[in-house]
Amino acid sequence: MNNKELSSLNPATFKEVGRVKVIPDSQVKAIVKKAWAAFPDWRERGLKERTAILKNVQQQLLSRSEEFASLITREMGKPVHESLGLEVHSCIDIIGYYVRNAETFLGDKRVPLHHILFKRRGSWLHFEPLGVLGIISPWNWPLLIPINSVVPALLSGNAVVFKHSEWTPILAEKMRDLFIESGIPEDVFQIIQGGAKPGKALVESSVAKIFFTGSTKVGKIIYNSAAKQLKKCVLEMGGSDAAVVCKDADVEYAASGIVWGGFSNCGQNCNAIERVFIHQDIFDVFLKKLINKIKKLRLGNGEAEDSDIGPLVSQEQLDKIKHIVEQSRKAGDTIVTGGIPLHNSKGYFFQPTVIVRDASRIQEDMEEVFGPVIYLTSVANDDEAVQLANRSKYGLTASVWTCHKKRGQQIARRLHTGTVMINDVIVSFGMAEAGWTGVKQSGIGWVHGEKGLDEMVNIKYINYEPQNHIQKFWWFPYSQKMITTLRSALQFLFSASYIRRIANVLPVLKRMSAFLLLNKKRSDKL
Ligand code: NAD
Repeated sequence: MNNKELSSLNPATFKEVGRVKVIPDSQVKAIVKKAWAAFPDWRERGLKERTAILKNVQQQLLSRSEEFASLITREMGKPVHESLGLEVHSCIDIIGYYVRNAETFLGDKRVPLHHILFKRRGSWLHFEPLGVLGIISPWNWPLLIPINSVVPALLSGNAVVFKHSEWTPILAEKMRDLFIESGIPEDVFQIIQGGAKPGKALVESSVAKIFFTGSTKVGKIIYNSAAKQLKKCVLEMGGSDAAVVCKDADVEYAASGIVWGGFSNCGQNCNAIERVFIHQDIFDVFLKKLINKIKKLRLGNGEAEDSDIGPLVSQEQLDKIKHIVEQSRKAGDTIVTGGIPLHNSKGYFFQPTVIVRDASRIQEDMEEVFGPVIYLTSVANDDEAVQLANRSKYGLTASVWTCHKKRGQQIARRLHTGTVMINDVIVSFGMAEAGWTGVKQSGIGWVHGEKGLDEMVNIKYINYEPQNHIQKFWWFPYSQKMITTLRSALQFLFSASYIRRIANVLPVLKRMSAFLLLNKKRSDKL
């Protein structure tokens, strides 16, 4: 990348996928301004029309699914099996989910009031768009992550300025074309090409809210900048996810699941398994099975349909993984398999790596790996596994592997994360209804599902008083008499003693029935 142009290279072959112009940060303000100008019309078109347009997006994506899957693979390297089966498939499903549920999620919701004073009132929640949203995405799920934010944002009537990762700029262009050709007005969905600079300018612009997915390091920068402007933001950040393998786990099944959870997408998943805590009684047999399965994995260009693992996305990622493994080796961990790049290959390929680490070396500040490396640690029991799994500054997801539902649920409740999957891993990210968030340094706020949609709207509470001619007794003027009545009312309404309640019925009825039952006007009104 230079200041003016981004050249996107296939990380398996180094062939150029395409080139785009970088948007100078000085132009970001004007782009956001255009979006604000387009916003009122988009909001006024109403939910029905927006839903129909997004249904179009879904159908267009379906008809171009192979094209999108191939581009994902060429631009960031993941096997086409994952691009098509996990990304494009989940996107089509998720758009359909939002379209089908638009009215349920975004229509007014009645909020019945229980209090005797307010029972006759109209009371409801009204959902309205926030304005222009800034969405910033990473390259590792380059279609699913943006779709999961852009679609609910547009559906709820917001305009969007979207900045994709500098590693997947061609996909950003394709997404823009898809949305525009499906009927989204040009200024309602605009993209910004480039890296940190235009990203920073977007955060500092007049967007109403930022939705960021990426590293914790950049998340912190964005949070600081947003705080200075009192701008709201949702931050979905890094993880160092644990798998707990219980003594009663089906070892064969757990080993297969953990190989996939650690090495699919070349380990470049925010929710990839990085730390595995295995009961000591099954440690050796688990390790043996794991290594056997890893040996069968085929590394190669993701465009080949039988490649299991593609390359890392960039030289930078490759250098980072080499460094992490080297540090680990120096510190005394045992590298059981892998630990080096693939010999004689073009592309940023790194061998799937298993490292055995002693429990004493599991530290709170262990950094996210984000590559094909998993750490195994033997534990004495479930308690130790939970304790070590929680010893992390991150708290994104975790998995538990057991044949007993109750045991799985008990462990799940004790893990400090936003998500726990029992006997599976990663795929909840593509489940339309499952919300997504992280605790500790992994996340602030929600994306995905109804909870994610709630972050994109102003949920306005509206209250209607039908008795619009009756002065309220809590309005001015205040009086001694009214305070005495209020004291009785408190006892009548809330006392745990039935005798006290009954004793206060008469004074309350005497003073208040005129207002509550007979709609009498206050004689002392101002
Ligand atoms: P990154 O933080 O380097 O970049 C993410 C995005 O932020 C990119 O578009 C980048 O250009 C932009 N950016 C960089 N500096 C910026 C700044 N100062 N201001 C505004 N924008 C800026 O992350 P990445 O390398 O693209 O992605 C990998 C990271 O993302 C990993 O840490 C991974 O765990 C995390 N991730 C998290 C989730 C989640 O849901 N929690 C999902 C996917 C990836």
